[in-house]
Amino acid sequence: MKAARLYGARDIRMDDLPEPGNPGAGDVLLRVKAVGICGSDLHMYADGRIGDTAYDSPLVLGHEFMGEIIALGQNATDGNHHPLKVGQRVAVDPTTPCYHCEMCEHGHPNLCPNHTFYGVYPTDGALQECMIVHARNCFPIPDSISDGAGTLLETLGVAIHAVDLGKLRVADSVAVIGCGPVGLLILELAKRAGAAPLYAFDKFAWRVEKARQLGALAWNVDDTNPLHKLQQATGKRGADVVFEAAWADESVQLAAEMTRLGGRLVLVGIPGDDRLVLQHSTARRKGLTIVMSRRMKHTYPRAIQLATSGGLDLDGLISHHLPLAETPEAFAMNARYETGVYKIIIDVQGRRG
Ligand SMILES: [Zn+2]
Ligand SMILES: [Zn+2]
Repeated sequence: MKAARLYGARDIRMDDLPEPGNPGAGDVLLRVKAVGICGSDLHMYADGRIGDTAYDSPLVLGHEFMGEIIALGQNATDGNHHPLKVGQRVAVDPTTPCYHCEMCEHGHPNLCPNHTFYGVYPTDGALQECMIVHARNCFPIPDSISDGAGTLLETLGVAIHAVDLGKLRVADSVAVIGCGPVGLLILELAKRAGAAPLYAFDKFAWRVEKARQLGALAWNVDDTNPLHKLQQATGKRGADVVFEAAWADESVQLAAEMTRLGGRLVLVGIPGDDRLVLQHSTARRKGLTIVMSRRMKHTYPRAIQLATSGGLDLDGLISHHLPLAETPEAFAMNARYETGVYKIIIDVQGRRG
């Protein structure tokens, strides 16, 4: 079967791998249907590492994915502990916590030190035709959620967790730096949580436009002084809650400067150089509460709810569909941030119209 593997920085090759075989107890065999490319994949693609995780043998990337179950191991129950069936379409939570450590027992599986993650070394991800995954990571999705939208449930889960950490109150003002898929979903969720006004910043015009369409006051950081704009808009007060969902470089300092006295700053973006750069006095004098967002906590059920009866449009975030064979070009295109590139979906089995 075909798989796209990362060999080094900017080096993805199409390989033939053996079929995965039969799933063991607690596992299922998945025919992967769709995989989304994420900013964290782009870090690994560009640098050969994410944070302090490096790889030293070829790795199948892809952690935002869904597929169809084609075989079941014994006791294959899903993330809600319901039995799975062959033929079901499922979205897959890429994190496998140990379920037994102190953090897991305390309800923080996202902080489990013993976890594995599909698509982060040494665990292969989903850019392959078939794979074995843990049944408990699977969440069945209704037909009303498209394959592409199914992959975006992971992105939405990240956004839900970040907004949970923001502890928004009705009519809190919110600023979001970075209007990629995660930042845009944070804006959407903040709006639904009753936050207002919403301010948004990005360095690409088409992403600023998407934030405007959501009802945010949005500016391009390259055309304007973003702090000045925010201060003008808030009467120099700053925003109650600020989310950094960009490259976590100088944008962290900017986000802290945008936060009001005593406000809350949620850091979601991951810096390429693995450094957090923030002037101490900015945060201290304001008495900011700074929260680091780490993945998510059993957010798939809420994400599925939002994407079905909640009416949240995930398909609108997808800009491109490409077949598995074009994965190398898809990554190159995404890493160049070409105009109009938003969420790229790899249709692993080819596209059904
Ligand atoms: Zn992701
Ligand atoms: Zn654990």
